[in-house]
Amino acid sequence: MLLVVAVLVLAAPAARPPDAEIRAAAEAMTPALVATRRDIHQNPELGNREVRTGALVAERLRALGLQVRHPVAKTGVVGVLRGGRPGAVVAVRADMDALPIQERNDVPYKSRNDGVKHACGHDAHTTIVLGAAEVLAGMKDRLAGTVVFLFQPAEEGPPEGEEGGAPLMLKEGVFDDPKVQAIYGLHMDPTLPVGEVGWSIGPIFASSDTFAIDVAGRKTHGAYPHTGIDPIPIAAEIVHALQLVVSRQIDAQSPKVLTIGSIQGGNRHNIIADAVHMKGTMRTLDARVRQDLKDRIARTVEGVAEAHGTTATLRFIGDGVPPTRNEAAHTRASVPSLQRVYGPGRTKEVAPQMGAEDFAEFAERVPALYVKMGVKNEARGITAMIHTEDFDIDEAVLPLGVRAVATLVFDHLARGGLKPEPATP
Ligand SMILES: [Zn+2]
Ligand SMILES: [Zn+2]
Repeated sequence: MLLVVAVLVLAAPAARPPDAEIRAAAEAMTPALVATRRDIHQNPELGNREVRTGALVAERLRALGLQVRHPVAKTGVVGVLRGGRPGAVVAVRADMDALPIQERNDVPYKSRNDGVKHACGHDAHTTIVLGAAEVLAGMKDRLAGTVVFLFQPAEEGPPEGEEGGAPLMLKEGVFDDPKVQAIYGLHMDPTLPVGEVGWSIGPIFASSDTFAIDVAGRKTHGAYPHTGIDPIPIAAEIVHALQLVVSRQIDAQSPKVLTIGSIQGGNRHNIIADAVHMKGTMRTLDARVRQDLKDRIARTVEGVAEAHGTTATLRFIGDGVPPTRNEAAHTRASVPSLQRVYGPGRTKEVAPQMGAEDFAEFAERVPALYVKMGVKNEARGITAMIHTEDFDIDEAVLPLGVRAVATLVFDHLARGGLKPEPATP
């Protein structure tokens, strides 16, 4: 009988999750969260130039007693929180950069940096992850493992000619010591009402590749085109043929976008141009479709030019970003934590979007879950999309986000990190 009792005690589930404690801590810090978010919002900095933001983050993490590495990947910060008990290593990533967009909102916390704005909500990401670090630091004796907080520069892409973002963070070893085994990421989402959170299994953001096409022509008089090579109709045919690749050559079930966003050539109405330059972007949700589309674009560009007796060159600019994938087991294990914070009815499986995120680089290396936190509030007129002059968030997302991140991390460590999914019979 005694033995049975002992076995029962050993097999008993871990202590109840500290939901009420996390909630109270997050709600008590709401005024401080709002102040931090507004401070960062008023002082936005472009990619690889997050000097003030990085210093603010490093100082806050040091004050919490974390082990801090700064600067990393130009202006980034890594904070390591070691729990009182041994266990897994999990990372949380926040991005810190703003965009070259003029703020149009007439709010007390309007950007003070002309032409630069936190129009993608990275001010909120930084604030939420700092808040979660504070909550978790306050409970570190009960944390079963280690948390690595990654504050990343240049998610929107580094300035041309510079390295940056997630690839540079990884190159500088942010996953290596301690060795990160799983990761969480988050984004503000103006398509979801505040108080809701979105997740998905598999792709949640698309791959992104930027390319340039140069079509060679030969200048001549506009009335005698046969004496030269006119690259303008050839370029038009390439644009059209590329849309046929998307709509006629690749499975309709597989989402993809190909956009030519810029086209330039010629300088006068009666002179045949000597070249046309085009730039575009392509998006997919699948690594194989991404490679297939790249190959087909190359074939089409070359083939159309050749058919008209000229040449066209295709160049991909930079390495691009793979699709962002949420790993199935990690996601399934984590969703109940989100449900306890947001409520089951407000925790929604969402469709992937064709935007891209360099968080994909982290998600390619360890199991990842990237969630979308609603910030829309129609009654208050907060509806603008990210990357616009009018974008804003309902700041009620801040304490909710802190609770969500702290709960995801606490629960993940409490269950011993990643567990292989039971094999289906
Ligand atoms: Zn963005
Ligand atoms: Zn963003």
